[in-house]
Amino acid sequence: MFSSCQSCRSARCLVRVQGRESLTTAFQDVGDKDDQVHRIDSGRWQDRTFPRDGWRFSTFKDLGSEDAICEMCQHARVRYAHVLVHQIFPDGILVGLKCAEALQKDDYYGPEKREREYRTDLRIRNDWPKREWKTSRIGNPFINSRGFNISIWRKGSGFGVTVRLENRFDDEFVRNDPRMYTTIEEAKLGALERLLEARAELRKQG
Ligand SMILES: [Zn+2]
Repeated sequence: MFSSCQSCRSARCLVRVQGRESLTTAFQDVGDKDDQVHRIDSGRWQDRTFPRDGWRFSTFKDLGSEDAICEMCQHARVRYAHVLVHQIFPDGILVGLKCAEALQKDDYYGPEKREREYRTDLRIRNDWPKREWKTSRIGNPFINSRGFNISIWRKGSGFGVTVRLENRFDDEFVRNDPRMYTTIEEAKLGALERLLEARAELRKQG
């Protein structure tokens, strides 16, 4: 049988309960395949000298289709690695979500939230070339994405980009790209980067 984890208290972190004694063997979600399970009876979880706290998120790394393994449990396959840094490991380690959560107990919900945002950014980037731009009443190309309105407008001999948060009634959120793009196609590529920057800016604001 399973119950919520005794150490991180997450219901998603399953603990195998044997009689009255509980023995944590792995961080996993229901339905995870074996190579998706972050085992704590393997890898650095077994190294008592390896630090369990004091880790800070640095960035994400898309490990692509390489056969990459979580550097903490050294068991689970990882595609999107959380790069965690530590005072005594400034270069950091690359870990999957479950081990990232276990190493950042003081920010337990942070890793999942960050990974979700990161994956959404990747999806926006991948879908961008397929997106169809509409034309506004005044003839400017525009697109709506994830609550933002992104428009391209005539700027001198080229084009400018504006990113605006839709339906924001308190403080208006408008970011004008200082660049001037020579072609509409360049402006559309620039608009993607400005949109991702605006999303990151809002995340920082919380
Ligand atoms: Zn792991």
